Amino acid sequence: MKTFAAQIISSDGMFYFGRLKDLIIPAVDGEMGVLPGHEEMIIALNEGIIRYQDSKEEWHKAAIGPGVIQFANNRCTIVVDSAERPEDIDVNRALAAKQRAEDKLQQKLSEREYKLLQASLARALTRLKLLNQDRQ
Ligand code: ATP
Repeated sequence: MKTFAAQIISSDGMFYFGRLKDLIIPAVDGEMGVLPGHEEMIIALNEGIIRYQDSKEEWHKAAIGPGVIQFANNRCTIVVDSAERPEDIDVNRALAAKQRAEDKLQQKLSEREYKLLQASLARALTRLKLLNQDRQ
């Protein structure tokens, strides 16, 4: 069975370390699959949902913040701002973050404030989307 070495590092530390059969990532230009033997690359990741299949063929999902993925020599390293499994997501916190960002986006803002709030809203929506998918 073909696999590749993978590590997902977030600001909180090592989120995942092991071997994967398949990986689907939210690349900036759309969802992208990564399989064993993938060509070398370094690309930016958007916030979004990452899906990965471990060597026991089990699929897992996580909400990630923006980051970067490197693939070289059948080894994948993902570095992201944040990463959470569905069971680690605090729904009330995500709902509060969404509401806060939406409220502030109604106000007059600098370009920087606007971008920060858009990013905060995107993180909250990603977390809520993962929780919704997990319930289905
Ligand atoms: P908030 O506005 O609620 O603080 P945020 O999007 O600003 O959210 P981040 O800066 O992305 O938060 O993450 C800070 C830390 O908090 C990270 O460890 C992240 O995994 C965690 N975190 C953020 N929101 C949640 C949530 N709803 N449930 C669980 N962990 C969360």
